[in-house]
Amino acid sequence: MYQSETEMMVQGIDVEKVRNDFPLLTRTVYGKPLVYFDNAATSQKPTAVLDALEDYYRLYNSNVHRGVHSLSQEATEAYEGARKKVATFINAKKAEEIIFTRGTTESINLVAASFAKKFLKEGDVVLISAMEHHSNIVPWQMVCAEKGATLQVIAMNEFGELLMDDFARKLTCNVKIVSVTYVSNSLGTINPVGEIIRQAHEKNIPVLVDAAQAVVHLPIDVQALDADFLAFSGHKIYGPTGLGILYGKEEWLNALPPYQGGGEMIKTVSFEKTTYNELPYKFEAGTPDVAGAIGLGAAIDYVEQLGRDNVFSAEDELLAYAMRALQAVKGLRIVGPLSNRVGSISFLLENFHPFDVGEILDKQGIAVRTGHHCTQPVMDFFNIPGTVRASLAFYNTKAEIDKLVAGLEKARMLLG
Ligand code: PMP
Repeated sequence: MYQSETEMMVQGIDVEKVRNDFPLLTRTVYGKPLVYFDNAATSQKPTAVLDALEDYYRLYNSNVHRGVHSLSQEATEAYEGARKKVATFINAKKAEEIIFTRGTTESINLVAASFAKKFLKEGDVVLISAMEHHSNIVPWQMVCAEKGATLQVIAMNEFGELLMDDFARKLTCNVKIVSVTYVSNSLGTINPVGEIIRQAHEKNIPVLVDAAQAVVHLPIDVQALDADFLAFSGHKIYGPTGLGILYGKEEWLNALPPYQGGGEMIKTVSFEKTTYNELPYKFEAGTPDVAGAIGLGAAIDYVEQLGRDNVFSAEDELLAYAMRALQAVKGLRIVGPLSNRVGSISFLLENFHPFDVGEILDKQGIAVRTGHHCTQPVMDFFNIPGTVRASLAFYNTKAEIDKLVAGLEKARMLLG
């Protein structure tokens, strides 16, 4: 059993103090203090985000871009202000390269549908990786089927690491786009996306980066990466659900046809002909999630106030502690790499079903995720039904990791 080290200050973050920023963390489950280790599915929200949402609805709720009246102007300013915050956060050249969507899933569907409409034809190849979330598989499968194109997959090894020689081999001139995850949600692997982009660009092939997990744990600089498209969801980075981001290089977004038609995305409409609006509005048909965007802006402010480096190093310290503690649990097998990874830790305990382990942990107030984590091909590769996944955030503590370890010992006793 691991004893907690002093955790008043974990790498520049005062854990006890930041926990007070997250009201939900004070609740109990089955009479026990909640231990929330399902952060990769969605993170908890700080008061600053909850207040920003409430302020919008209480004080200046109004539709954006459409009214001359003051409320609409205030809402528009806040909404467009959030776009600028996102652009700065990921170092986009221009705010116009930031499209608000419903989430990573919609961002990828948007690119797949629009890109395929214009650029994909029979015999072409879309290249993804063996560890993609279903949302970076199915949209491509759908457009490939429609266009007679083929989906190919970069293989991985038994540690959940991509095989770069397989990538180089499969990067033929038939490949029209590469779409890969920066960080695997089920394995925790950090993929060498910079190198993937570099090699793809040598052949003039664009790359979409699924940054749903990466944006929480790594600094994202779209210009340094030279990513053509990058997608993430606000709810994983302490913002509200229902709001996501698609970053696209201006020239690519201008080249793609609109995804949906409706209000806002048009310049002029007649029954004979419609002309489309400029970026980013061309891709934002209908009333957007104004509150969601403002909430994400508040979440970004919150992270920036804490200091991104402080947040990341606190997570790294927790991750190192958790890996040591979990590897010392008898009969526990980590599924995924042991290094070059983030704190989404998938594992199996003995040969117990992940669901049974997860249920016993839940009774102790410990929230973990069990199952295939929307990566069924990853589970098929390892020939397992699923995993237990404990995913950490900077507001978690070493004492909570100790509780997880104790919970797993209890699960072994009850199931063994
Ligand atoms: N990609 C990855 C790597 C993810 O972890 C997730 C969420 N689990 C998604 C895509 C989909 O995100 P969302 O459900 O927010 O659209």
